[in-house]
This record gives sequence, C-alpha cells and structure tokens, in this order.
Amino acid sequence: MNVEVYISQEEIQVRIAELAKKITNDYHGQEITVIAVLSGAFMFCADLVRQIQCPIKLEFMKVSSYGDNTSTSGEVKVDLDIKSDINDKHVLILEDIVDTGLTLTYLIKHLNTRHPKSLKLASLLSKPSRTVHPIKIDYQGFEIEDKFVIGYGLDYASKYRELPYIGILNLEC
Ligand code: IMP
Repeated sequence: MNVEVYISQEEIQVRIAELAKKITNDYHGQEITVIAVLSGAFMFCADLVRQIQCPIKLEFMKVSSYGDNTSTSGEVKVDLDIKSDINDKHVLILEDIVDTGLTLTYLIKHLNTRHPKSLKLASLLSKPSRTVHPIKIDYQGFEIEDKFVIGYGLDYASKYRELPYIGILNLEC
C-alpha cells in the first residue's frame, strides 16, 4: 500500500489557524466546553485548542458505529461519555470528518438532551457528496471528494493516524 498526499501539513496548519481565529472572535472570551470525538479528532483538537484564545474545558467522547474498515453501518453507540455537566454551557464538538453525517446527527441529538447554552460543530473534513443526514458544520476545514482518506488522526484499520498530512491510501499497491 502506498500513500499519496491529498492535503499537506502546511495547508492543514494554515486552515486551522484561520478556524481558531474565527472561533476566538465568535466566542468573545467566553468559556467553551470543547468535546473532541475520539479517536480521529485527537490531532485536530491538539492543534486547534492551542490557538483558541478563550478559556477551554476539554472533554473527550468516543462513539462507534458498527461497520467494516471503510464504512459505517447505521447504528451508533457511546463508548466513552463526557464527565462534566454541559447544562447552560457553550459546547463545541470537534470531529475529524463528516461522511454520511450519521455519527454527528446522533451525537448532536444526544448532547442536546443535556441543554447546552449553545452547541456548535467544527469538523476538519466533510464529504458533501456522501451526506445522508445533513448537518450544519459551523467551522469546517476542507470539503473533500468521495475518497477514503487517512492521516492527521484518521485511520485505516487503526493505522496511519500519526501522519501529519491527509493522504489517500492506494489499496491496490
Ligand atoms: P459518518 O457517521 O458516516 O459521518 O462517519 C463518520 C466517521 O466515519 C468518522 O468520524 C470517521 O471515523 C469515519 N470515516 C468516514 N470517512 C472516513 C475516511 O475517509 N477516512 C477515515 N475514516 C473515515
């Protein structure tokens, strides 16, 4: 298997700086409860939160959808929940990629039952051509084509998450 660079490390870092600036301006120094969705959003989260100039309470959630290595099946469950109460808090979800939108649709519904003051979503990537469950992405890194991507937190069979860029895996090699 070989990996082709799709979005370079430099492009990612430039875009993240832009997103952090916009988030900083929008929240005006108010505290944000940032919820990073594990495992894919770990690198995006680490780079983004370091540049947001607002107080942050950082939480992690893990959700899983049943499926094979490259697709989801339609059922979502919470494997790791947040520890703090988000009632009346400004919540910002950080996700690696919105593909069909199933995971985020479920997560947003789930978190809204806890009555946050606001609930927004930042996703590094989205694949609009694959959307089945449309969701509003408040802060978006890049819209990409219908390709399976890896790196910068995203995996194929738990591998390639450590790459500093987004790549496309050539499965035929
Ligand atoms: P959705 O529920 O279909 O939107 O899928 C979201 C999840 O599927 C993401 O959080 C990823 O874990 C995974 N996923 C979707 N597309 C890709 C991809 O191209 N590469 C790696 N993981 C992906």
